[in-house]
Amino acid sequence: MSRSGASKLQGRLRRARRVAVLTGAGVSAESGVPTFRGTDGLWRQYRAEDLATPEAFRRDPGLVWEWYDWRRQLVATCQPNPAHRAIAALERDAPEFLLITQNVDGLHRKAGSVRVVELHGNLWRVRCVRDERTTENLEAPLQDIPPRCTCGGLLRPDVVWFGEALPAEDLRRAFEAAESCEIFLVVGTSAVVQPAASLPMIAREHGAYVVEVNLEPTPLTSTAHESHHGKAGEILPHLLGLTPVPGPPSPVPQGPPCSP
Ligand code: NAD
Repeated sequence: MSRSGASKLQGRLRRARRVAVLTGAGVSAESGVPTFRGTDGLWRQYRAEDLATPEAFRRDPGLVWEWYDWRRQLVATCQPNPAHRAIAALERDAPEFLLITQNVDGLHRKAGSVRVVELHGNLWRVRCVRDERTTENLEAPLQDIPPRCTCGGLLRPDVVWFGEALPAEDLRRAFEAAESCEIFLVVGTSAVVQPAASLPMIAREHGAYVVEVNLEPTPLTSTAHESHHGKAGEILPHLLGLTPVPGPPSPVPQGPPCSP
């Protein structure tokens, strides 16, 4: 990325009233949270697509919870990285802002982001399949697998599984932000999971300046006004003109997950 390219975006950001950001699993990779598509995302011999479904939970809730218990223990040891902190700083400077994340790890909030829509839910919330009540649950490792509600019903992770609908109100806010923002930043998403993948296109059609940050080219790259390839934790603070915000050191550069 050229210095003048970065400062042009910074000028646009200074003038913008409305900024929106979309993130995917890649923004948490430098914190040590594995993406699903990388080989380090594999758990035992299973693929995420075979565990993160309502059918898998009906068939074997214990197995699905063992996987979530492993992911929760792993995420509990991870800290936000410079990319999470840069996005939180961007929010503090923008009059109107929305962060739309596909991540369920809660690291954006941990970094200080407030105006956040978690399109795919959150690992640290559970929902009773009987009475539908949603509660926070931070127990990692879980004592009882599968965990149960006080009403006796099974608890499930409050996340959106493959084949399930996204929460309507969150989706409405995400589309509204895409349609009305002046700058739309897309970080660490393969841009293949719908409907999140269509948001950058919608933003562009409504006149937003679209900027992508990803390790590699994606289906979005040809649509974006700017595409920056490399690690989000290195590129974003520079792109946004931020002095790296001090914080706990990122435990792992990229690759091996934090130990569960
Ligand atoms: P994804 O489809 O969003 O793909 C990850 C993308 O991040 C890839 O395009 C990759 O090139 C890019 N990337 C990897 N490391 C990066 C880095 N350091 N800097 C910039 N870009 C980087 O995500 P997925 O893993 O295929 O998962 C699909 C869905 O699964 C997500 O939408 C999410 O809901 C869920 N998921 C969430 C988490 C999490 O909460 N951290 C982790 C895995 C999967």
